[in-house]
Amino acid sequence: MTAQLNPRGDVAVLVPAAGAGVRLGPGAPKALRPLAGEPLLVHAVRRIAAARSVHTIVVAAPAADVESVRAMLVPVAPVTVIPGGAERQASVAAALAAVPTGPEIVLVHDAARALTPPDLVESVAEAVRGGHDAVIPVLPVVDTIKEVDATERVLGTVDRAALRAVQTPQGFRRSVLTAAHRAAGDPLTDDAGLVEKQGVAVVCVPGSELALKITRPFDLALAEHLLTLGA
Ligand code: C5P
Repeated sequence: MTAQLNPRGDVAVLVPAAGAGVRLGPGAPKALRPLAGEPLLVHAVRRIAAARSVHTIVVAAPAADVESVRAMLVPVAPVTVIPGGAERQASVAAALAAVPTGPEIVLVHDAARALTPPDLVESVAEAVRGGHDAVIPVLPVVDTIKEVDATERVLGTVDRAALRAVQTPQGFRRSVLTAAHRAAGDPLTDDAGLVEKQGVAVVCVPGSELALKITRPFDLALAEHLLTLGA
């Protein structure tokens, strides 16, 4: 049975949360690491569920943790929990297969972006609703970027004006994401990459500093601080 959030919503949000998270150091799978006493995944799902057009949330959990993740999310929001795969892409494909008939907009959102504001979920969904097949939230790149070789020797300086740092949720017309996953070859780190390979135009909307990906211990400390400021 698929748990439903807002029956009038037109958006399904897939949350790949099955990664090990080795860059955070040893411990639980990344999505289950505590942030201010609650798992990252709980923070992420609470914010997604607060976005008014979300109809369904499907979480891909580590296979060994499906039951505990389901129990953990019961007090947070009605959520469908399925076992993830070996790669992020496989986890997303499994979650996509669990979306019920109804929502025609599908967002893919990393559990690791636990402080993503509900408004960003809505603005990505709105851009898809407005006619775009694929939409990604982005931030400008602030650092100077160098291309290097295997020995760390600088090959050149990349023009950062043309670069964007990409966040999630990434939004898609459902049929477009389904076709891209069906045709997928080598695993990629984001879903827009799969869609690009199909020749579909991907458009950018402004991202949010709060949608930072909690990857390293520094990010966790920053996220804890942001929560004390009311994030
Ligand atoms: O490892 P990375 O930071 O790129 O993971 C991004 C997101 O994909 C995380 O939320 C992680 O839990 C998820 N993931 C997954 N299944 C995997 C690997 C990563 O759901 N096999």
